[in-house]
Amino acid sequence: MILNDASTIWLFDYDLTLYFESERAVLNSLDRRISLYVQKILGCDFEKAQEIRKEYLRDYGTTLAGLRAKFGVSPDDFFDFIHEPEFLIYPEPAPQKREFLMRLKGPRYIFTNGRSDWSRTGCKRMGIYDCFRRIVGLEDLNWEGKPQISAYEKMESVLIEDGVTEKIFPEKIILLDDSLKNLKPAAERGWRTIWVNSSLEPKPNFVHEKVENLIKLGIRNEEC
Ligand SMILES: [Mg+2]
Repeated sequence: MILNDASTIWLFDYDLTLYFESERAVLNSLDRRISLYVQKILGCDFEKAQEIRKEYLRDYGTTLAGLRAKFGVSPDDFFDFIHEPEFLIYPEPAPQKREFLMRLKGPRYIFTNGRSDWSRTGCKRMGIYDCFRRIVGLEDLNWEGKPQISAYEKMESVLIEDGVTEKIFPEKIILLDDSLKNLKPAAERGWRTIWVNSSLEPKPNFVHEKVENLIKLGIRNEEC
């Protein structure tokens, strides 16, 4: 159970956190565009592009980081191509998510490794865009996302700039993310971490809670 008070700051990853594993087709549609972009830059076939992406993920953390290191690709060129709306699938309207988010008393942010237009469009489709104070996207993180330490530092500086807190009390920050890799540095900073994952895999020690999906998260109001 998480205490639902006004001083709790809620940070949500977007992909596979604000929309669920059951809507993986959303992520798959984006993933296909990323492979097509790699294919375009390298002038190779689709299968080869997918192999190269695996190498980049291993060596650089993300496909974009690999493309930047190897070819000096501009992040905006990459995102303009992969976010072309006519090729993408978006999450369905989600009134239950809206109801859940609106019950949270503290400020809510999206903290995502995508350029913010992707989650903005998706959240508008789900009907939850206005539930968030701001989207902190990869463009706000100097194109260096989670799990790089600089991303978490930047997120904390946004909270100060926005005036949601005067100084950082890490135990007041909650990050919900489907990726353990992204939760670990957050836990190391003293943030609370919630792993959104529908498998039966047990949670590792650095994760405070595990939920099948975010609307299943147990929250308790101060007065109760
Ligand atoms: Mg994610």
